Amino acid sequence: MISNKKALSMIDVIAEMFPNAECELVHDNPFELTIAVLLSAQTTDNAVNKITKPLFEKYKSPEDYLAVDIAELENDIRTIGLYRNKAKNIKKLCQSLLDKFDGQIPQTHAELESLAGVGRKTANVVMSVAFGEPSLAVDTHVERVSKRLGICRWKDNVRQVEDKLCKVVPRERWNRTHHQLIFFGRYHCLARSPKCDICPLFEDCREGQKRYKATLKEA
Ligand code: SF4
Repeated sequence: MISNKKALSMIDVIAEMFPNAECELVHDNPFELTIAVLLSAQTTDNAVNKITKPLFEKYKSPEDYLAVDIAELENDIRTIGLYRNKAKNIKKLCQSLLDKFDGQIPQTHAELESLAGVGRKTANVVMSVAFGEPSLAVDTHVERVSKRLGICRWKDNVRQVEDKLCKVVPRERWNRTHHQLIFFGRYHCLARSPKCDICPLFEDCREGQKRYKATLKEA
């Protein structure tokens, strides 16, 4: 693993590449954001945004989601992956919001994680994006990029990746860094075809070097 100082210098480069990175899930309030994040599991933000426009016009409150049959909700979100599970979780989430939080999205990690379908990543995103609380959510892009660069170990779990990033990055930068690492993974260090040939981090990146050596062997 590289030193914390080196890791931060790499994150600084990524920050320069994507200075204006921000949440790409379209939403107007914490409730819509929570639903959008829940829908985004194993699906692209683009796919989620396509369905949330009509969805958020139709369903404006937890009561609205609970008022329809599950089959109707499934039909409204059927174009995205795992829609049956997601419809079930939305229903459960809305019920617990009404039962425990007066229909409002709570503003602590623990309360958010007590909601159906809401794990640590979703809670971190909501705390950060909706309420401006410093959080560094680890999604598939953040995890892949952190491991490829050697900021974390390959065997680290998501929580270990989060803890390491929070140690490396100053707290006041956590929210922005989360989005910058996502943009870097989504648009540059892609899962299947990372742009190593034009990457400013290539010289120091263990994954980039490994891939380069593999191409030399093939040649
Ligand atoms: Fe990703 Fe390649 Fe850049 Fe490494 S060199 S960060 S693998 S794009």
